[in-house]
Order: sequence, then structure tokens, then C-alpha cells
Amino acid sequence: MSDSLPTRETLLPYGKQWLEDDDIEAVINVLKSDFITQGPQIERFERKVAEYVGVKYAVAFCNGTAALHGACFAADIKPMDEVITTPVTFLASSNCVLYMGGKPVFADIDSQTYNLDPAQIEAKLTDRTKAIIAVDFTGQPAEMDRIEMIARDHGLTIIHDAAHSLGASYQGRKVGTFGDMTMFSFHPVKHITTGEGGMIVTDNEKLYKLLLLFRNHGMTRDAALLEKNDGPWYYEMQELGFNYRMTDIQAALGVSQMDKLDLFVARRREIAEHYNMAFGDMEGLIIPKQHEDANSSWHLYVLRFHLNQFKVGRKELFEALRAANIGVNVHYIPVYKQPYYQKHGYSETYCSNAESYYNTTISLPLFPKMTREDVESVIAAVLNVYEKYKA
Ligand SMILES: *Cc1c(COP(=O)(O)O)cnc(C)c1O
Repeated sequence: MSDSLPTRETLLPYGKQWLEDDDIEAVINVLKSDFITQGPQIERFERKVAEYVGVKYAVAFCNGTAALHGACFAADIKPMDEVITTPVTFLASSNCVLYMGGKPVFADIDSQTYNLDPAQIEAKLTDRTKAIIAVDFTGQPAEMDRIEMIARDHGLTIIHDAAHSLGASYQGRKVGTFGDMTMFSFHPVKHITTGEGGMIVTDNEKLYKLLLLFRNHGMTRDAALLEKNDGPWYYEMQELGFNYRMTDIQAALGVSQMDKLDLFVARRREIAEHYNMAFGDMEGLIIPKQHEDANSSWHLYVLRFHLNQFKVGRKELFEALRAANIGVNVHYIPVYKQPYYQKHGYSETYCSNAESYYNTTISLPLFPKMTREDVESVIAAVLNVYEKYKA
């Protein structure tokens, strides 16, 4: 059987950027200009993302993790404050709470969508809960209507970690318009890239001003904000901020990439549809279930296995796919299982849906630049492994 199916000579990564000549030219133009950091491209990029999403304000950061740190600062997360988030996410979604001295609290996921289960959020509320960090895992928006309701009822801030979901929508509303602040990441595996980069979008002017301060040492020259004014040179440090600025070089790349976002998302949806068609009817495989209100922008495609229907474990299935040069991955190890978390108060934490999800999942390659042959080689490799190991 394997002889008739396409095999790969080189490893197909699980994610990758798509840069073209016009992207490269945009960067070169900045290098030839007067400003290579904090010039006109930053604001252009910020405005472009804000307009795309449909919000008033955007603040670019040097990466998405710094942006989340900024969001936690603006949300005034303090020591003893609890922030509820999902364990099935990248480390940064909860590390940002630790940066502020706060306490991440992990609520279990829905067993079908793999997103935070609103009922589990409610079960974790205490009088110290200050915020919710909702993550749109794989690009599928979390149940933001229910999460907004919980936040409203309990006076909580919502930070929307949309690192996976630029271009997605929920109940017809674009991701970026939910909650108080939304974070996007521009790491090369994400929807558009600036090399490293991140952004917070918000409709809240007060949060916007705090984010601007935080990005730049807590420092301002804005005459309207100064406590006093010694003269035209005068600046004030009003908060303890960081140097989390993005460069104009990166922002120019972002501006250029934004023009292609809808195309990138359409291509991601197309590839996911191919996978769904190929694997949807196969016994023992679970394709990613989509909530009826969600329109995912498909950062990841996660395929799950009913392991009791296979002769080998997930590790062997994973290794067989890697041996076929398919750059499969696992997203994610539940955050609380990390040694750092285990040593810092999370040894008793256990989310059963997150654990069983983690034990049975494999992420397939998914990025817009994949060719038809790339997609077919992934499908062929999965079918091969399935034939070989299905009980
Ligand atoms: C990528 C990612 C981040 C952080 O983004 P960086 O730009 O790499 O710092 C945060 N949360 C999630 C869920 C991510 O996937």
C-alpha cells in the first residue's frame, strides 16, 4: 500500500511563515529610512489590525508574551489575585499571571472543543478571582458569550488570548471585540508574522494608556499626563514598565502581511476541510469538533486517537508519522504538569479532560503555504499508519 501513496523526501513542519517579495521589500524600505524603531510603521500596523478587528485601540509589543504581560499589568493583577485560564495552552497564557505575582487557576476544558468549559470556570470562582484569560485553542473561539456573562456577573476582567485566532469569529463577531483586551501573536507559525511580535487590541482608553506606558519603561512625555513639566525635554516615569517595543522593521512586515491575512485564513480553512473529509469517517479517529457559533481561523489541526482501537500507543503513532517526514507535534502538555508549576503549588492540580485530551492528540502540519501535494502526503501518511496499527 505504501508504494502507491506519496511519500516525502524532507520533513514537512507543522507550521511556517509565508513571505513574498513585497514583504521583503517593505522591510528593506524601513532599513533605508530614518526610523528603524518607533517610527511611522508601528502606528500604521496598529491601526491596520485595529480596523480589521473593529476596535479603537491597538498597542504593538515585541512579542505576544510581552503583550500578555502588559494586559495583566493593565488589568491590575496583584499578588493573591486569582486568574482563571485553561491548562491546554502555551505556557505564556498563564506565565503572564505569575509575572505579576498573581495566581493562575486552571479550569478544565470541554471534552469536545478543547476550549475552556464555562461551567468549569464558574466552579473555580472565589472572592479573589480577578480575571479570566480565555484562549481560542487551535483558532476556534472559546464560548465568549458565556464567558462575558460570567465576567459581568462577577466583575472580572477578560483577557482574550487570541494567539491562535486572528481572523476567526464567534456568533458573527470578529475575535478582538470580546472581553476587555485581546492579544495577538505574530510568531512565524501564527497567522501573520513579524518575526517576533504581538499586539493588544482594546476599546478601553484607560487600558490603552496603561499599555502604552508599560511598553516603554512606564515613561511618558504626553503633556496631558505629566504631574509637572520642567520644559520641552521633560519626561516622567509613572509606572514600572519594560522595554517591550516592536521595531518599525517588524511593523512594516506586519502591515504587508495584514493584506494577506484573509487569504491565509481561507487557505487554512481549506486544508482543515481536506483533513476533515479524509479522517471524518474513520473509526478510531476524532476530528476537531467545532462549536456551532464558532468560525475558526485554524491555527492548528489536532487529530485524536481512540487508543484502545490501536495496537500501539500515541508515542509509536507519533514516531511513525515523524519517520514519514510529517512534522507532527503535540499541543499542549497541560501547563500545570510542567516541573516549575509542580514545584510551585500545582502538584495537586488535575483536569481530567485536559489530561485525556493530552494523552491522545497529535497535531498535523497546517500552514497556508502547504501545497496540494504536502496536504496529500500528510493524509497518506496518516492512512498508512492507520492501516498498519489499527487493531
Ligand atoms: C504563541 C502563543 C503565545 C505567545 O506568543 P509569542 O509571540 O510567541 O510570545 C501566547 N499564547 C498562545 C496560546 C500562543 O500560542
